[in-house]
Amino acid sequence: MLRLKALVSRPLRPGPALRPRAPLVAHRLQSSGKSYLDSLTTPELLGYGVIGLATLSKSTLNTVISLFPYAPLWLVKLLVYRNYCGGDNLAQVLQTGDRLAQRGIQNMMLSLTIEACDGTQTSVPVSQIVEQTQQSISQVLVPHTAKMISKAADINSVPPGYVALKPTGLIDDAAEILRNHNNAKYDAGYQQLLSNCRDICRVVAQENEKLAKQYPGRTAPFVAAVIDAERSDLQHGVYRLQRDLFREFNHGKINVIGTVQMYLQESSHILAEEEKLARKDGYLLGWKLVRGAYIHSEPDRTVIFATKQETDQNYDAGIAASIANMSSEKPAVGHLVVASHNRESQLKATQLLQKADARVRANVVLGQLLGMADNITFELMNRYDVKNVIKYVPWGPPKETKEYLLRRLEENGDAVRSDNGWPFLKQVAKALFRRLRHQS
Ligand SMILES: Cc1cc2nc3c(=O)[nH]c(=O)nc-3n(C[C@H](O)[C@H](O)[C@H](O)COP(=O)(O)OP(=O)(O)OC[C@H]3O[C@@H](n4cnc5c(N)ncnc54)[C@H](O)[C@@H]3O)c2cc1C
Repeated sequence: MLRLKALVSRPLRPGPALRPRAPLVAHRLQSSGKSYLDSLTTPELLGYGVIGLATLSKSTLNTVISLFPYAPLWLVKLLVYRNYCGGDNLAQVLQTGDRLAQRGIQNMMLSLTIEACDGTQTSVPVSQIVEQTQQSISQVLVPHTAKMISKAADINSVPPGYVALKPTGLIDDAAEILRNHNNAKYDAGYQQLLSNCRDICRVVAQENEKLAKQYPGRTAPFVAAVIDAERSDLQHGVYRLQRDLFREFNHGKINVIGTVQMYLQESSHILAEEEKLARKDGYLLGWKLVRGAYIHSEPDRTVIFATKQETDQNYDAGIAASIANMSSEKPAVGHLVVASHNRESQLKATQLLQKADARVRANVVLGQLLGMADNITFELMNRYDVKNVIKYVPWGPPKETKEYLLRRLEENGDAVRSDNGWPFLKQVAKALFRRLRHQS
């Protein structure tokens, strides 16, 4: 299952040295007392109210967590589902895209949450996962992106639609295959994994070609496949997988994006090595840079930086180096997703983009998980006039998304508690009251 550890809603604090691009908007927001909560729908606000209530004390939260597996799905869906999940079918995911667009978030990174929890057997056949992922590109990302472009004044102000591919969800016995990808005994398995990913990337490439004919002035891809990063013992297999896909699909344009976890001590070396290989073989790199989600389950802790501060420095350095590379005369990096809930990192990236040219700006996208860091997403858009923001949207069968929801509840619970449950609940209540007053 997805194991994305996440930071959540913290109150807005005054910005650092970064100067807001749209101070008037910011002023209006502050003087009207509006918060990011005002940009959510009423059911989403009520969902946050429920989460606030569930996390008022440690014992309340523990009770909710232990009862959650027994809660009927209809109740879960009624209360908190839409805060974190895009839906259980493609029509619902399209609606989620529309809802996000109303908040000014023009695109999504879709993730079908069916995979092998233990890296062995997926809960539905892999062929079905491949097929549904392909459908999510053609039936959701393509029409949604085209709709956003048709409404935009500038076709390059709409970020691409992404489809996230989790390598452990795209082949049975994925962990063994990825760990032993260089061993001849596992070669057939690796080739099958590559072929499954290739079937999805081919749809991405075909859709990009079709849309490029319609919108020749576009400088970023319309849609892209993103390979998610896994536990570090599987990562060298994943690096090979993403490299094989870059080599096949990224000649002169971006269709595939790989992920590097910047909490790994070797990450800057990986970025440099991949750049050498890309230059040698003449393909472009697309990167999603994350800090890394597996710090608590990593069997060999020494592969990760010893301190959070070192990870932070390395993350920001990786983002700065990628943007510098993209801005150079002969770039090897063609696209970058800054996937983080860290406000400082997002503001630093935004500051660098204010100085970059239009082609680079269209190819750097800031991403957060649906239902997480909504205040940061809101601040980036409204205070710094950022357009290139997307949300990572999990979708899929209710049983699997329920497990995903439980982890979001635990993580959001921690964050709500550390921000004190009552003040958060009061903010939600005030936003609901403002809404009622406005309607009456
Ligand atoms: C759109 C999106 C896509 C993602 N995709 C992936 C993915 O494919 N694979 C993946 O692994 N993760 C993924 N993540 C999760 C990501 O790796 C982080 O776990 C999560 O975003 C929290 O980090 P942060 O940058 O948001 O913020 P922060 O809260 O500032 O950073 C927390 C992170 O810092 C690091 N850290 C914390 N304490 C220490 C310490 N003592 N020493 C060293 N490092 C420390 C850990 O990585 C921790 O997760 C994704 C996140 C987003 C938003």
